[in-house]
Amino acid sequence: MKEVILIKLGEIVLKGLNRKNFEDRLVKSIKHRLHKTGSFKVKNSQSIITVTPVFEDIDMDEAAECISKIFGIAAFSRACAAEKDIEAIKQTARDYLQETFLSTSSFKVEAKRSDKKFPLTSPQIAAEVGGYLSDCFPDAAVDVHNPETVVTVEIRDDAAYIHAGVIRGAGGIPVGTGGKAAVLISGGIDSPVAAYMMAKRGIELTAVHFASPPYTSERAEEKVRELLEKVSAYSGKMTMYTVPFTRLQEEIRDKCHEEYFTIIMRRFMMTIAEKIARQNDCQALITGESLGQVASQTIGAIACTDAVCHMPVFRPLIGMDKEEIIGISRKIDTFDISIQPYEDCCTVFTPKHPRTRPVLKNVIVEQNKIDFEPLIEEAVENVKITEI
Ligand code: ATP
Ligand code: MG
Repeated sequence: MKEVILIKLGEIVLKGLNRKNFEDRLVKSIKHRLHKTGSFKVKNSQSIITVTPVFEDIDMDEAAECISKIFGIAAFSRACAAEKDIEAIKQTARDYLQETFLSTSSFKVEAKRSDKKFPLTSPQIAAEVGGYLSDCFPDAAVDVHNPETVVTVEIRDDAAYIHAGVIRGAGGIPVGTGGKAAVLISGGIDSPVAAYMMAKRGIELTAVHFASPPYTSERAEEKVRELLEKVSAYSGKMTMYTVPFTRLQEEIRDKCHEEYFTIIMRRFMMTIAEKIARQNDCQALITGESLGQVASQTIGAIACTDAVCHMPVFRPLIGMDKEEIIGISRKIDTFDISIQPYEDCCTVFTPKHPRTRPVLKNVIVEQNKIDFEPLIEEAVENVKITEI
């Protein structure tokens, strides 16, 4: 018996003329993401994408897990296909649902008939299959009001499908339909969550990480790579650019007033990230900042940071509490990696009393004590590229 996955499209059904483009993207993502699990036929028709394994020995648990992380999918079902004949449907339902019925005390059958040529109506199909299953599994009572299990029979153009439940999908819109942006990624809790949230809105990601060896270790960079691997289960593949940041940070430490260390560093980060973003056709930057979380995330500090940016900066966590952010990081499985204690370049040379209300004019005076342009160029030229 061959199990398939039926995918219900999410918000994309609302997109009018763009719908075709969105659906094509989604089909492409599904094919791409399932590649590691095995070979599948992915077919889009009648508002449902059907994913059928080509060979019998494919791990469908793994396939379902993978599909649960693809944006643009509202819900999906693991189903079994049957010939469009009522006897075949009944028998397939019995065989396929055997295990489900071991732990089901009540059930009902619903039928949907999108192929109107099928000789029985939906209520007739439901009654036939319901009666048959009730005979086969006498321990499960029929309950049309509050059943524990809802068995669905869908008569579609290509086959009849039987399933016993709908699994919630990742929601959002297909990655790539929202353009491309560069996420500034640290090893912390916040930035992987920010990356995930923007991918959910259809953005394809490029990652930029700043490393300051020997103040930050190889292991810290490895940790970021691990975080991005977790994010890529949702966002799809991406390129990570590791920027050598030591010289700029040492210059800041040696030449600028301590109060301004962080804000100047952040301005350099944004400038470098923006250059990398442009080289990669990205149209925006993404950070994991949340208002008031630290001194560099006050309105004043953010204004000074934004003053060097020439593209939109998305900060999806800006209004969220740490607890809410942690909730998402647990869900996407980045939390345990994020809390491993490795230095980030943001935590080296931190001032004891950073300015929470920096004045842009003064920041610029301090920043200009450094001949930073060649150092920025040098940093961009020496990035390390890792494919995730
Ligand atoms: P996170 O948990 O993401 O590290 P945080 O609360 O520690 O956030 P900061 O260290 O102030 O906050 O960093 C704010 C944002 O700046 C991060 O969310 C990230 O987008 C960016 N950032 C910080 N450090 C780095 C880094 N080493 N490389 C790239 N981006 C960074
Ligand atoms: Mg950080």
